[in-house]
Amino acid sequence: MAEELEQTDMSVDTRSPKRATSPVSRSVVRPIRTFAVLAAVGALVTAIALPALATGAASPATASPATAQQIAAGHAQSIVVASEATAVSGTRSSFTATTPQEIEQKKAEEAAVAAAKAAAEAAAKPSVASVRTNMAPIASPGQVIYPMAAGSYTLSDGFGAARSGRSHMGQDFAAPIGTPIYAAADGCVTISQDGYGGYGETIELSHPALSGANAISTLYGHMNYGSRAVSVGQCVTAGQYLGEVGNTGWVSGSCLHFEVLVNNTEIDPLAWLEVNVR
Ligand SMILES: [Zn+2]
Repeated sequence: MAEELEQTDMSVDTRSPKRATSPVSRSVVRPIRTFAVLAAVGALVTAIALPALATGAASPATASPATAQQIAAGHAQSIVVASEATAVSGTRSSFTATTPQEIEQKKAEEAAVAAAKAAAEAAAKPSVASVRTNMAPIASPGQVIYPMAAGSYTLSDGFGAARSGRSHMGQDFAAPIGTPIYAAADGCVTISQDGYGGYGETIELSHPALSGANAISTLYGHMNYGSRAVSVGQCVTAGQYLGEVGNTGWVSGSCLHFEVLVNNTEIDPLAWLEVNVR
């Protein structure tokens, strides 16, 4: 028991610098006690343990006899710390993400990969869209028709309806997104764009056979994104499928915005249809 108490005193003294400035009477006694303790420990511990005590390692191992394994572990830990310190200062560039700069670089690389993937998916979108090319026409060549099948729409805002700062230059055919739109007459595609200003996804047809002395065109706006089934220069017949009703461009709710232009000036589409449908 006496040996254990002595040992505890020693460990406290060696670990606490403040205790080193204790009264002279104690400091005189201490070397003797320390020597006695060292001798006792030496008797208890193997020869391997002594170097650990001699190096003055301020660890709990000095408070109680340490096994050879514990000491070995302590040595192993100190070696690892040394190698880490060397690695950080010497071969930093060979590590993948050990500094804030390298972590930021890694994040930037991952963000670039994610952006590229998103761009690829966006580029693939039009080809995935619901372009229906095999829709049967709802009219015969030479006819003039309403641009949507009877019963598939509701006439909403008409020509001249109030708009902020202007008037409405077409006829709206309100219908759910995806409802088919058809060519009102034989013609050729002069516009086929996914973003035609406020019209959004738009197709325009010229109708030479109807024109006579005046150039007549029809325009189909707010179409569903990616649904256009015809391209510029292509000629179509009356009732040929053009694409889907959507809500693209400046519009509230889904509808076909249908315009009729005579010499590039909008006229009332319903009045024109009533006269020309046949
Ligand atoms: Zn409209």
